[in-house]
Amino acid sequence: MATETAVYETRLLIDGQFVPAASGETFPTYNPATNEVIAEVAQAGREDVERAVAAARRAFDEGPWPRMTPLERAKRMRKVADILRERLEEIARLETLNCGKIIIESRGDVAASANCFEYYANLTGHVWGETIPMNGPLFDYTLREPIGVCGQIIPWNFPLLMAAWKLAPALATGNTIVLKPASATPLTALLLGQICLEAGIPEGVVNILTGPGAEVGAAIAEHPQVDKIAFTGETETGREILRLAAGTIKKVSLELGGKSPNIVFPDADLEEAVNGSLFAIFTNAGQRCTARTRLFLHESIHDQFLADFIAKAGKIRVGDPLEETTQMGPVISTRQCERVLSFVERARSEGAHLALGGKRPDDETLRTGNFVEPTIFTNVQNDMTIAQQEVFGPVLSVIRFRDDAEVVQLANNTIYGLAATIWTRDLKRAHRLAAQIRAGNVSINYPTVNPPEAPFGGFKQSGIGRELSRHALDLYTQVKNVVVNLADEPFDWYGKWPVGQK
Ligand code: NAP
Repeated sequence: MATETAVYETRLLIDGQFVPAASGETFPTYNPATNEVIAEVAQAGREDVERAVAAARRAFDEGPWPRMTPLERAKRMRKVADILRERLEEIARLETLNCGKIIIESRGDVAASANCFEYYANLTGHVWGETIPMNGPLFDYTLREPIGVCGQIIPWNFPLLMAAWKLAPALATGNTIVLKPASATPLTALLLGQICLEAGIPEGVVNILTGPGAEVGAAIAEHPQVDKIAFTGETETGREILRLAAGTIKKVSLELGGKSPNIVFPDADLEEAVNGSLFAIFTNAGQRCTARTRLFLHESIHDQFLADFIAKAGKIRVGDPLEETTQMGPVISTRQCERVLSFVERARSEGAHLALGGKRPDDETLRTGNFVEPTIFTNVQNDMTIAQQEVFGPVLSVIRFRDDAEVVQLANNTIYGLAATIWTRDLKRAHRLAAQIRAGNVSINYPTVNPPEAPFGGFKQSGIGRELSRHALDLYTQVKNVVVNLADEPFDWYGKWPVGQK
């Protein structure tokens, strides 16, 4: 399996310089397809958090970035998009090497990251306030101002794209940033930091720290000089972030886990639904927060649909993610692989029927990597562990339903509320269910997509706030109200107070 790909930066990005950790310590990062070490990466500690936060603070309080015209900020952000597009192939290879997703998906992620920067570059001049009619000789308006120093903590399943989703709206609105990538996948975030510098984003605006979440992430989340924390990851870690941020009442946005339903009605185009449902669960080896992990099949098409679905799932080409023809790569780590397989055991013991996969592939060439076969459980009850907990691997639960009311109840019966898909040709039913399902993102006759123009985020324990779209501008700005007295007469405390109320 190929491993040669240039690794660019492995040091911390602090105040415009790539530097070793203060302690001099490093940690290995691996290729999940082989478990070979790709590089040793600087392991930040609390001292590095202090340095990075101080740099971001200076860049916000004294530096040019928040004071730059929107057009100037936009030019630099467009340059980031241009560089990502020019270097798409090499960056995609690096992404695949470090996170194991297939090369076609990595190319898509680099392109989507460039689109995200371009989208927010186009919005820099669209961050505006309101003028508010007042009762009396007062003029009132609002300003939208950047929040300040933003801590951003991201997971390993979309290492570059998650960094882009976080950085681009924060930059567009004039904030400065300390970003921490997941320890499993530090390389493309560091490269993105380098590209930001090359594109002319000033020193100290983007700082990137690689290191353990429990130390580095926690130190960022509780730091008194960090004004906002944006986190993407597991719901349990999100809970900890909320606790850590509470001490200084930080603004917090959270993008967390999911257990998203994928509902197929008998009137759907069943072939399209089979193909779309395969995509919705098995892309990125199931390691998507929006993976449609619960497949609800109407009882009248259950057997027919499953026969086709399982046959096609059994033909998914699992293997080297750098091979153009591979459809599914490894999961991120040996630990994650073991976790996925332990969910398989639990599902069997709770009475679900293993209809496909449930183990590592027999292929000897895949032995050293973290590969798991596409796995399908049928006869699943919605209250089983496999249908309630996030597995984060290529594991699907199939659940039978009788009618609309039952499937809505089952679909909503989870602590999560991130995404859902409905397959039907009946327009009324589609829109009725879209309204009834408690999730932040619903797709109708389409597996899953998150373009920068559309808001993204979760109901219930899937998160707080909406990323992407104009909504993300709200996450990274705060509203200031300004009131101006237009009256010529002198202010009269008791006689005319409050102004305009007489
Ligand atoms: P995770 O374990 O929660 O880690 C996410 C990030 O948080 C990593 O950078 C991690 O650092 C850091 N971290 C861990 N413990 C921390 C702590 N105590 N304080 C501060 N930071 C801490 O999640 P993951 O396993 O990387 O990613 C998979 C999860 O992300 C899934 O649950 C998935 O659903 C979710 N996800 C959600 C979305 C969404 O938009 N809703 C998108 C993608 C993924 P280390 O890597 O060093 O541990």
